[in-house]
Amino acid sequence: MELFDKNEIKEVYGVEDILAEECEPDGGDPFEILRAEVESCKKCELHKTRDNIVFGTGNTSADLMFVGEGPGAEEDKQGIPFVGRSGQLLTKMIEAMGHTRETIYIANIVKCRPPENRNPFEDESSTCIPYLYRQIEYIKPKVIVCLGSVAAQNLLKTKLGITKIRGEFVELNCVKVMPTFHPAYLLRNGNMKKPCWEDLQKVMAELSCD
Ligand code: SF4
Repeated sequence: MELFDKNEIKEVYGVEDILAEECEPDGGDPFEILRAEVESCKKCELHKTRDNIVFGTGNTSADLMFVGEGPGAEEDKQGIPFVGRSGQLLTKMIEAMGHTRETIYIANIVKCRPPENRNPFEDESSTCIPYLYRQIEYIKPKVIVCLGSVAAQNLLKTKLGITKIRGEFVELNCVKVMPTFHPAYLLRNGNMKKPCWEDLQKVMAELSCD
């Protein structure tokens, strides 16, 4: 799709080389090796203010993955993504889709909390996002739901806002990405829940195609 600078997942991700170089020589589960690497990461300034890294949670063989922008205060405290008020709404959305938090996987663009809940800076996102690429490469979901502008812009390499790109799949190699509203936005704008649910219904239909 010409709206996006790049849409080839290999080109964007470069994951095959990363996995080959950084995971295989150590043996063991590449996902756990990756988690350990993130836990000690100091590649960007966000490591200075974190209490915990928020690596991700759920089923590492899931067909469905949700990606948000980054941890908030409660997530930083617990080390788990989407556990505050917007996390509770996300859990309801997941359950309305016939899933649980255990059957899907949830991760963020950045693994450490940006101070004062600001959006991650571009250099922070670009430094951290290879970890997410490696999670995606390992999990191999069929569909990724991108929650909000920051997640969608970073994953899809676009500057367009979420209202312009939500509701239509963007294909990144074999993974279909559905951008939709962030639950925190839905808490402030209840009238957007309906269009968001329509987006999630498209995701459900896609997953039931197989
Ligand atoms: S945000 Fe990502 S790149 Fe930055 S320190 Fe945390 S894990 Fe490392």
